Amino acid sequence: MPINPSLFPQLIEAINQSINQHADAVTELDQAIGDGDHVFNLQRGLNALDQAKQEISQLEWPAAWQKIGMVLMASVGGASGSLYATLFISLGKNSAQQQPGISGFAKAFALAIEAVKQRGKADVGEKTMLDVLVPVANALEVGADSGAALPELLSSITQTAAAGVEATRDMIATKGRASFLGERSQGHIDAGAKTAQLMITAIADCLIKAT
Ligand code: ADP
Ligand code: MG
Repeated sequence: MPINPSLFPQLIEAINQSINQHADAVTELDQAIGDGDHVFNLQRGLNALDQAKQEISQLEWPAAWQKIGMVLMASVGGASGSLYATLFISLGKNSAQQQPGISGFAKAFALAIEAVKQRGKADVGEKTMLDVLVPVANALEVGADSGAALPELLSSITQTAAAGVEATRDMIATKGRASFLGERSQGHIDAGAKTAQLMITAIADCLIKAT
């Protein structure tokens, strides 16, 4: 079955369920080295997407990504809001220029992650969501280029995301609020990396079941 935006309601429900289930744990992570609001910021955006899910499910992917970005821009506060809005708006623009299918998506996603890096003036190794998103973008491109079957590709992405989160534990934050703590940020997982992993895993699990 092709992966098209008619799956969006299922995907957003799976993401919401996972984030809600892990909300307290994420807040604990964010209270240790941030200001503790990350999960609330994200939940505001996810609730707004839940409200818009039927409309989004009627669109083609480029317009759907664009709409997701606009909804997030309008609803999520904090650093993470503008970064995710950038990701999806960029995905909308870039996916319009790619072939439909996994390889085209992988290319558009990699370009969208570049836009997030630029927007936040950050890169891997700075203890942020990019420590999950960048390796996942790479795994997606490598998997798509090698012609991996979808279940294998999704499981490799899930593993890559989990490793990315764990890698943030020993990093010293150099971007975002956690950077105010300098070396004291070490020993804690980054909340934004954790929610990125939770969302990616929820999407992968949902797609494995749906396709
Ligand atoms: P705020 O830091 O404004 O309170 P949130 O709490 O919603 O925003 O989000 C914090 C998360 O955003 C961090 O855990 C980190 O993963 C991510 N983050 C912060 N700054 C950046 C940046 N410059 N680039 C990428 N991700 C960032
Ligand atoms: Mg915060």
